[in-house]
Amino acid sequence: MRIDDVRRIDLGTFVRPVEETGTGEPRVEAVYGYVVRAPDGVLLLDTGLGDAGWETEEWYRPVRVPMDEALGVAGLTTDDVSLIVNCHLHFDHIGGNPRFAGRPLFCQRRELDLARAGDYTVPELVDFAGASYELIDGEAEIAPGVHVVPTPGHVDGHQSVVVVCDDGSVVLAGQAHDSASQWSADALAAQAPRLGHRTPLPDPSPWMTRILDFDPRRVVFAHDAAVWVP
Ligand SMILES: [Zn+2]
Repeated sequence: MRIDDVRRIDLGTFVRPVEETGTGEPRVEAVYGYVVRAPDGVLLLDTGLGDAGWETEEWYRPVRVPMDEALGVAGLTTDDVSLIVNCHLHFDHIGGNPRFAGRPLFCQRRELDLARAGDYTVPELVDFAGASYELIDGEAEIAPGVHVVPTPGHVDGHQSVVVVCDDGSVVLAGQAHDSASQWSADALAAQAPRLGHRTPLPDPSPWMTRILDFDPRRVVFAHDAAVWVP
C-alpha cells in the first residue's frame, strides 16, 4: 500500500445551528469517509449521514451525497468494499451501514454497548438486518498493515485507523479531534516535555503518544478537509 491508496470521499454536509457554534453564526460542516485499497480488499471508514428523523433533519439540514456517487468519484462501487470501520456510531458516521449488510463491520465493543443502551444514535442504523459486527476491545490489526487504535474523547468508544503504507503511515482520525488544528495542539502537548518545556503544560490525550509512535505522514479527519502533516 502507498499513502495515495488512501482516498477521502465526500459524503455530504450539514449546517450546525447557531445555538451550537458559539460564534453567532451557523456553520456548514462536511462529512467525510475514507477508502483504503488494501491488498486484501477495500476498507471504508464511515458511511455518512443517516436519517435520524424529522427533528434532526430540521436541526442540522443535511445534504447527503449518495454512497454510489461518493465511491464512484474514487473509482469504486459498493461491491468493491470488503470491510467497514466506523470511528463511532453517531448518526452522521453510520448512515450507509445497511448498504453493506453481511460485510464485517469493525467497532469497539464499548461503543456498540453504548449505542444499544439508547439515547445515543439511530437504533435502526445499528441493528439492521445483516449487521455483522466484529467487536474490538482496544487496539487490533484488522488487516495487514491496518491498525485500529482507540481514541476516546468525543465519545468513550471512539476509534481511529492507522494505515501503515510502504511510504509512511496515514491516520484516519475520524472525530478523535474535530479539526486538524485541534489535533496539532494535542500532538504538541504530547511532545512538549521532549521539546524541553517545563510544567505547567496541557494534558495531551492519553492515546496521542501511541498514535505518534506510528510516525504518521498524514492525519485526516471526518469533519475537516484540512490535513495534519508533521
Ligand atoms: Zn461526527
